[in-house]
Amino acid sequence: MNKEKQPKGHPKGLYLLFVTEMWERFSYYGMRALFMLYMTQALLLNKEAASEIYGSYTGLVYLTPLLGGYISDRYWGNRRSIVWGAVVMAIGQLLLFLSACYYQQVTLAQPLMIIGLGALILGNGLFKPNISTMVGSLYSETDTRKDSAFTIFYMGVNVGAMIAPLWCGLVGNTGHPEDFKWGFLSSCIGMLIGATVFQLLKSKYLRTPEGAPIGMPPVFENSVKNEKKAEGTVATPVSYLRIGIAVVSSIMLILLFAINWESFNNPSIGLFEDVDWIGTVIYACVIVVPIFIITDPSLTRIEQKRIGVIYIIAFFVIFFWAAYEQAGASLTFFADEQTNRMIGNWEMPAAYFQSFPALFVILLAPVFAMFWSYLGRKKMEPASPVKQSLGLLFLSLGYLFIAFGVRGLEPGVKVSMIWLTGLYFIHTMGELSLAPIGLSMVYKLSPVRFSSLLMGVWYLSTSAANKLAGLLSSYYPEEGVAKSFLGYQVENLFDFFLLFVFMSGIAAIILFLLSGKLKKMMEGAE
Ligand code: GLN
Repeated sequence: MNKEKQPKGHPKGLYLLFVTEMWERFSYYGMRALFMLYMTQALLLNKEAASEIYGSYTGLVYLTPLLGGYISDRYWGNRRSIVWGAVVMAIGQLLLFLSACYYQQVTLAQPLMIIGLGALILGNGLFKPNISTMVGSLYSETDTRKDSAFTIFYMGVNVGAMIAPLWCGLVGNTGHPEDFKWGFLSSCIGMLIGATVFQLLKSKYLRTPEGAPIGMPPVFENSVKNEKKAEGTVATPVSYLRIGIAVVSSIMLILLFAINWESFNNPSIGLFEDVDWIGTVIYACVIVVPIFIITDPSLTRIEQKRIGVIYIIAFFVIFFWAAYEQAGASLTFFADEQTNRMIGNWEMPAAYFQSFPALFVILLAPVFAMFWSYLGRKKMEPASPVKQSLGLLFLSLGYLFIAFGVRGLEPGVKVSMIWLTGLYFIHTMGELSLAPIGLSMVYKLSPVRFSSLLMGVWYLSTSAANKLAGLLSSYYPEEGVAKSFLGYQVENLFDFFLLFVFMSGIAAIILFLLSGKLKKMMEGAE
């Protein structure tokens, strides 16, 4: 079908998106590295309160891409959404900087922090799905370089993610609470650099192969065409009835999820006691938003099937990130308490392990990008669902590897760093088979007029996964505490890691078995 000759390299626009995303992720991960420490060491919040704020923040930051995707697809287009997202995030980082300047006046510092976080959450929602969609728009519909392009883009994510904690940690985490502000200021400056580069170069480089500008606001038409058009993102009129139904059902689901069922047996417990409201909002969105999108009257059968594929894979991806994100939770406890971190006379801080995946992504991404390109040229590239099941399989193997390392280990005994390092290395191979390929797949399967919103749905699975990751991490074995997950007894580290082997292994197998059917549902979109 594709007779046009496909160039070997990549368009310059990809590198503009790479640099913009790199600075944005620098800003995001730099702030994130300091955030918990800032709350506990400068604002003197207790660990529980700080963890709650942290959990809500990381959950919400991946929920708002739905909003940003919607605004972009219907009104603003990618470019404007990215620029506004970047500006709002820079303001958010500035507010955190101000909060840290006045950290001794808690009544001022806390509200500044909360408003700053709100700005980061909104800004990320506008930025993240839109920059991801733009990567795909640089290529023609039949171009097979997309997986490789998204892999290069993902490397940009991780260059930012790797450098940020090191730099912001150096200037902000000095042991003196008054220095946190320099970390937040760095994040703010990083975001501004990204925004400026994007603003200055976007008109020149963000174009289709034919030279038409991409990421412009949508075109409204009464009759909807189904084909993708370079510039013809056609939006349908808003149906207030459908929006009304979606809002009412969301509210009902939120209330349903929020009910504390214990209260029926025990009158001293309130009906909505101890509710994790943010969790319930996320879970309600996970159900309502996908249904809202797939029932849009403008969609054809083929488009609905393709969107169905996105949903099915996004569901499996929840298990991937929930297991992968143990990096910031249970695996950091493991690094801290049960891993021998001595290198010569120097003991490596446990937190450094969190830079490993980013480092491995940077090292392995070019290899993966070349590999996909090579297979693409040979017409031997596996379909996305196969790559994603491979991603889940790697995740399972990573946990299997570490499970061997801790088998029969007495509490308090430390194991070699090889185990955790090996786990992260294997997980990174999984991440590269799943995450950039997922972005590419979402782009390829989405009708243009819904592409950013569906990217938001893709990130919604990360939002739900972050919540699930917190729950799973709480099964980390503790001496003298009996823990059981759905009837599975977690008595020691071996059992704990095996839980993830099973979870991701079973998900990998099911996804692999479904891949033939999913490929058919894609109907030539790959
Ligand atoms: N490391 C990725 C990023 O920050 C993770 C994205 C995701 O979907 N979980 O972009």
